[in-house]
Amino acid sequence: MRIGLDFDNTIVSYDALFHKIACERAPLPLDIPKNKVAVRDWFRNAGREDTWTELQGYVYGARMDEAVAYPGAIEFMRSAARAGHILGIVSHKTKHPFLGPKYDLHAAAREWVEKHLIEEGKALIPPERVYFELTKEEKLSRIAQFHCDVFVDDLPEILMAPRFPANTRPILFDPENNHAATFPSPDAVVLSWDELAVRLSG
Ligand SMILES: [Mg+2]
Repeated sequence: MRIGLDFDNTIVSYDALFHKIACERAPLPLDIPKNKVAVRDWFRNAGREDTWTELQGYVYGARMDEAVAYPGAIEFMRSAARAGHILGIVSHKTKHPFLGPKYDLHAAAREWVEKHLIEEGKALIPPERVYFELTKEEKLSRIAQFHCDVFVDDLPEILMAPRFPANTRPILFDPENNHAATFPSPDAVVLSWDELAVRLSG
């Protein structure tokens, strides 16, 4: 099976890291949970949208190495690779942040993959199967070119896009259970990587 994976908020969880870095920048109220959306909403409600935008560039550019994989993600990739499945990463992000220093966000993400997605010193996903595209449209084209049997993403708008390939099975990674009620195929929603492993083996 050819398994395509999104990167940000599917493989990589930024919840703890955004909370930590926000605390370095601003006295966050103690009741703000360690959650990226909660941190974003706090900056927005405080009228500090620009600070939030700049903070994202800093996290994805300068502090990327501190981000962690979701529980079960690396184990999933290890057992899928051992079972002979072909894994690829297809993501889209801008090359540089919208605000602040011009970090190379693609390079930072690639370095994260090289450092974190390894088994016994060997890449779980070789660099030629790691695609960081610039736009959502380019990402959709790449998903089609990669001939994914399955594609896993945290964004319904990717999986439900008119150009999402008809012969690729969409799976929504929804760890906070935000979309189960609204996503058109509830049986295509998984809450964890462990659940994904079970779903694909069934
Ligand atoms: Mg994502």
